[in-house]
This record gives sequence, C-alpha cells and structure tokens, in this order.
Amino acid sequence: MPQTPHYLIDMATLRANMEKVAWLREASGAKALLALKCFATWSVFDLMRDYMDGTTSSSLYELRLGHEKFGRETHAYSVAWADHEIDEAVGYADKIIFNSLSQLDRFGPKAAGIATGLRLNPRFSTSHFDLADPARPFSRLGEADLNRLEQALDRISGVMIHYNCENGDFDLFDRQLTRIETEFGAILSRLDWVSLGGGIHFTGEGYPLDRLADRLKAFQDRFGVQAFLEPGEASITGTTTLEVSVLDIIDTGKQVAIVDSSTEAHMLDLLIYREDAKLPQAGDHAYQIAGKTCLAGDIFGEARFPAPLQIGDRISIADAAGYTMVKKNWFNGVAMPAIAIRDEDGQIRTVRSFGYDDYKGSLS
Ligand SMILES: *Cc1c(COP(=O)(O)O)cnc(C)c1O
Repeated sequence: MPQTPHYLIDMATLRANMEKVAWLREASGAKALLALKCFATWSVFDLMRDYMDGTTSSSLYELRLGHEKFGRETHAYSVAWADHEIDEAVGYADKIIFNSLSQLDRFGPKAAGIATGLRLNPRFSTSHFDLADPARPFSRLGEADLNRLEQALDRISGVMIHYNCENGDFDLFDRQLTRIETEFGAILSRLDWVSLGGGIHFTGEGYPLDRLADRLKAFQDRFGVQAFLEPGEASITGTTTLEVSVLDIIDTGKQVAIVDSSTEAHMLDLLIYREDAKLPQAGDHAYQIAGKTCLAGDIFGEARFPAPLQIGDRISIADAAGYTMVKKNWFNGVAMPAIAIRDEDGQIRTVRSFGYDDYKGSLS
C-alpha cells in the first residue's frame, strides 16, 4: 500500500462505468466525449479510450492533453480564446466550439479547416446551485438569442448545449430536451451535429439507459444530426477514493479525528458546495473527520466506525475523482496525495507521487 494521502482509482469500477457509456453509444448512435475539466488523470486513458469517442475541453491545456494523451476525436471549447492561443488550438482540435458570436467573428476564419460550432444557452438548466448554473441571470455561457444564432448559421455546423448538472431524473431530461426541440428546432434542423453537453447521470444505479438511448435516437432522427454527450462525472463516478490516515484524535466536546489531508487542498468542492464528504457510516463510534490545515472549517464531515479509531488508522473517503483531482492544490503546503491505481487483478500501483520539489516548483 502506498503512503497516505493518495487518490486510489479502481479499474474494475471504471470499466463498469465505461461499459455503460459504450452500451449507450451503441444503442443510441450518440457519441461520448470525456469532459476533461471534470477528470484529467491521463494514466487511465488507455482503458477509457476503447469505450469513448474522445475528449472535450475548456482550455488550451486541456485540449492539448486530450490530443496528446487520449487521442481520437478532440473537441475544443473555451469561454474565451486569446489571440495567442487560437492557432495552436486549431492544430489540436477536430472541432472548435465558440462561446459567443463575437469570438466566432474574430476567430472563425482561423478555424476554416475544421468543424466549427457555437454554444447555445437555452436559458434553463437542472442546476440548483447559482455558482454552477449556466442559466443564471446574465450568464456569459453561450448565445441565447435566436437572432444572434441565425447570424452564425452559415458559418457553423453544430451547437453545444450544456444545461444538465448531475441530473439523474430521465423524465426531467426528456421534458427539457422537448423544450429545446420546440424552441430551437428550426435551427437544429439546419445543423450536422448537436452536443447536449454533460451532467446526465446515466451511469447511476437504476438509471433507465434504454429510455435515454431511444430518446437520443429520436432526437437525432428528427433533426438529422449527430448527437454528442460530454460526460464528466458520469464517466468516473464511484471509481475513486481519497485514502487518508488518522494523525491525532482530540476531544473538543466531540471526538475529532485529524487526518493527513485537507478539504481545501484535496477535496475543494466540499467547501465550495458546502457538502459533507462520503465517509464510513457503520458502527457505534462517532467522529468528526477534520483536515490538518489551519483553516478552522477544514472538516470532511461526520463518520461512524465499528471500533474506536486509533492513530494510524486508514480512512477511505468516497467519490474523489470528479472535480477533485483536477482541483488539488498546495494550500498550507500539505503533502499532495499521490495517485494510485487498483488494477483489475487487485494489485495496487502508484503512478505519480509529489514531493517538496513540486511544491517549490509551483511558485517562485
Ligand atoms: C462541465 C461540463 C461538462 C461535464 O459535466 P459533468 O457534469 O461533469 O458531466 C460537459 N460539457 C461542458 C460544456 C461543461 O461545461
């Protein structure tokens, strides 16, 4: 076992997710691209590549990583490209998706050799969290105005519409896609491809994959388009834990176990979205699990164990892949978790570890 802290990716679970993705592609005819902003741990791309069509990105570096490490079909999106990025971006991409009509005006001619698209904002979404809601008031994410979309039509072959957020409710997806068909159908039927973005939780337990496949097929048939999905979280959900060890146990009126990790440095979204970590909940012995930084609220959450915790005990924190490894940082100089893989034969190997030189090298 590698030293803690480390992220541990389980290849058998990852393959089970990938088999669902591949089934959906086959049954629906839609293509699936991994959204690198959610998960970019390229050591496991060799497994994922056989089940997905390629990657989509939100910046030049993600785009380059997708091109270099995943290959296959590479979509390039960015909220705003800079003048010095565009030529390099076009060199890596099969498709480039501009966020606004003004970016299309500015850079469209540079992308003449590859497929070009525009982000369409339908002005509704399934996100209830303002911070992550692309349909929030005055959202800058994509064009919403029919007249402005019309102006782009002779220059684009498709649109990207990202409006779902961890949506595990097929009927809600179905209703909202119908709304898109009704409001934007005249535009969609003039295109070759439509990406429906990410946020559909179709690898979740009990999700009606067959109904989703039929719905996507009907959508493509009706408008004569190739549909794309851009699953981030759905691709890697449930595959990864953050493995930590107990360093100290103190009584503050509560039993608090301090571990060799930190929410802010290693699971930042817990703080941003005010969620508790997924911790063990079986047994009579209750502890608050807290991080080792000097941030007062560096708390993973409440946990229960069958026996009293001891210094040195190992704790696994679930769901540590999506929006987690891509956000790790050096706050408080806490040792950065290594990255380990549990292969399908049960063997664990460390694929990357970080040390003082990485910390020092992240600043100057
Ligand atoms: C974030 C994002 C995704 C991935 O979303 P998940 O919820 O992780 O599936 C896909 N496409 C776009 C445009 C995004 O912004």
